Amino acid sequence: MTDTLFPAPQAPQIAVTGDSATYPIRRIFCVGRNYEAHAAEMGNTVDREAPWYFTKSAHAFCPTGATVPYPPGTENFHYEMELVVALAARVFKADLAEAAAAVFGYAAGLDMTRRDLQQVGKDNRRPWDLGKDVENGAVIAPLTRAETVGEIGAQRIRLGVNGAVRQDARLADMVWSVPEIVAHLSHYYHLGPGDLIMTGTPAGVGPVVAGDRIEGQIDGLAPVTHTLGAAE
Ligand code: MN
Repeated sequence: MTDTLFPAPQAPQIAVTGDSATYPIRRIFCVGRNYEAHAAEMGNTVDREAPWYFTKSAHAFCPTGATVPYPPGTENFHYEMELVVALAARVFKADLAEAAAAVFGYAAGLDMTRRDLQQVGKDNRRPWDLGKDVENGAVIAPLTRAETVGEIGAQRIRLGVNGAVRQDARLADMVWSVPEIVAHLSHYYHLGPGDLIMTGTPAGVGPVVAGDRIEGQIDGLAPVTHTLGAAE
């Protein structure tokens, strides 16, 4: 093996409920505006033609239960509670059945967002990276295998801050279903093991400040918790 100038970064890994093996992360895709009520609260309508995406670095991953510093460069840091889909099989230009079969499992996750910087991006027709690709900004709880979870739809998806409920919806409220998203995205990427998709957030997003504790729950999945400390 050739020498590397510095230790090669390891893929971040997510725990899997009931399994000693972990799930190494390759890429993180995120769906925009996948709940009609959230699109409305942001002053938008949903796009019915096709889903659309932004990405986060795999190294934006943060395990559940951590306390992390309030991030730099923002004065309006928001939570977004989301269903995370993890793929385990290669899919390319898939139909809905192939897309569904490629899903390894699901997790509760937080798409943490510098909302003020995302807005600067929108206002100036610039990319969203500073707003969305935030260090420790992809908070993901342990994965549960798809066969254990069963059909996606009736489950409640909820988020609270310091015990007060802020988001409360059902996975059936998603505009684009999990197979629809995987199939659509597979027409642009050779998707495969290690690829995660954060599937969008319900209405009720809002800011958090140092000292706040976030807890998100999706029926049948491990909860995701996250605490913000003081800024560095
Ligand atoms: Mn989101």
